[in-house]
Amino acid sequence: MSTVTWIGLGHMGAPMSANLVKAGHDVRGFDLSEPAMAAAREGGVQTFATMKEALEGAEVVITMLPKGEHSRAVYLGEDGVFALAPKDALLVDSSTIDVATAEDLHRAAAEAGFAFVDAPVSGGISGAAAGTLTFMIGGEEDPARRAATVVEPMAGRVVHTGAAGTGQAAKIVNNMMLFICLEACSEGSVLADRLGLDPKVFWEIASVSSGNSWALQTWYPVPGMTESAAANNNFDATFSATLAAKDIGLALAAGEQTDVNLPAARLVAERFQELIDEGLADKDCSLIAKYAAPDGTI
Ligand code: NAD
Repeated sequence: MSTVTWIGLGHMGAPMSANLVKAGHDVRGFDLSEPAMAAAREGGVQTFATMKEALEGAEVVITMLPKGEHSRAVYLGEDGVFALAPKDALLVDSSTIDVATAEDLHRAAAEAGFAFVDAPVSGGISGAAAGTLTFMIGGEEDPARRAATVVEPMAGRVVHTGAAGTGQAAKIVNNMMLFICLEACSEGSVLADRLGLDPKVFWEIASVSSGNSWALQTWYPVPGMTESAAANNNFDATFSATLAAKDIGLALAAGEQTDVNLPAARLVAERFQELIDEGLADKDCSLIAKYAAPDGTI
């Protein structure tokens, strides 16, 4: 069993790190937020007041941070992971970030003598709690193989996607498809309601029909349909509008760089921005369903 330092103990990091504890690893955690550290302690993570202390004796470092700028802040600089972690530690960035930042971190890791992989995940907080996430690992063969072994207690599937940054590329495209499916569920749920359909009857039909999707099974924006949906909890975030706007923005930027037309993604990006403009940035991204209703009531 290994000593694992975990940085970023939020919605995903807390349940993921708890699964490493359950598997017998010694997990040392750090987060800027004290409530996040308190939640992680409940899962058996030992927390520390500074990242420096959390990194002591690390054999593996896993980061689960919001955006590329946070990964840069945590890895680079005088007080960063590259400066403070033991040189033989394997470094795993599971945050969803832009490919360019991931590639920069790979380069900086190599210069500092570290084995590093980008390893974003799919599966939401329900998959994080159940230990069934899909890991998309970009990087060289040997660190990718070592990372696959470490993440196994948190994973349903681990895929080595190829060279540095390809894990992020796969994740960005996957999430773009997820958010387009979420918009489809949003429009579908409101139209079904306005056509007088019982929501449970319609959800059950769609879930075994061609309208099915992961978004329908997991995030359907109507209370009482699917256990893991934020709709059951007044749209308190399982995946915040801020993070969804970030991810769809990464897809749009990648589309611009590669000259690909992404009209559906652009429309969903506008929906997330509307939530943010309304002061609902911290609510769940599935609240975009309200924009399908003429009066905003769902
Ligand atoms: P979150 O905002 O709940 O958690 C991120 C945590 O990072 C916060 O607790 C924050 O305090 C901490 N943090 C930020 N800067 C830090 C720093 N410098 N040092 C230490 N801690 C720092 O976000 P989340 O929902 O857990 O998502 C994390 C990442 O996983 C994001 O990139 C997201 O896109 C991705 N993701 C999220 C989901 C989901 O369903 N929530 C699913 C798959 C992937």
